[in-house]
Amino acid sequence: MNFTYLIFMLPALILSFWAQSRVKSAFTKWSQLPNTHRVTGLETAEHLKPRVGLQNVTLSRVKGTLTDHYDPSNDTLALSQGVADAPSIAAMAITAHELGHALQDKEGYGPMRLRTAIVPIVGLGSNLGLILVMVGIVLQIAGLTWLGIILFSGTALFSLVTLPVEFDASNRARKMLDDTGLVVSEEERKGVDDMLKAAAWTYVAGLLTSLAQIFYYISMAGRASGSRRS
Ligand SMILES: [Zn+2]
Repeated sequence: MNFTYLIFMLPALILSFWAQSRVKSAFTKWSQLPNTHRVTGLETAEHLKPRVGLQNVTLSRVKGTLTDHYDPSNDTLALSQGVADAPSIAAMAITAHELGHALQDKEGYGPMRLRTAIVPIVGLGSNLGLILVMVGIVLQIAGLTWLGIILFSGTALFSLVTLPVEFDASNRARKMLDDTGLVVSEEERKGVDDMLKAAAWTYVAGLLTSLAQIFYYISMAGRASGSRRS
């Protein structure tokens, strides 16, 4: 059973591993290269906020590496130390991406609202779904197994809705950096693009992981009902 699980998950695991290492190497590379204006993440945010209509956003710091995020519940952009205080191309790209989420929040961007709305349902559904799948297989109740799979499928829906949210935030980041004159040289444009593309792949890997898990449970349900018939 564990071997079958590994076979199902292998492509997703490989893609996840590749995407994570790509994010790390992109961050290592572009955090060592200063941006043209020598602005840190915090200064990038201060520069962008009034120019893109995000004066309401509060800036804060967060511990950890690549833990930067925008919190829509209190309009706060939290930047990690390696971004907040670094005048690098990477810091500029990450800050602009997170402000892209702040813009989505302000404009009520559809996919972001959908994602926020389904978070509690997906959390509950995936836990309950997993239990139902296991119970359904053990007790050989196909209906219960399938109900569990359907509930668990919410995780894939969440990963799917995450894609437009993340891609759109990166597009907004590129645009605001260009429009406000922060990105000047071809090298820093390339660096920003490299950072944003690397991050995008981790979300594609997330979707593939959810799908692989669902396909695995479907195959288990199919085998359970098959063995019952024979
Ligand atoms: Zn994002």
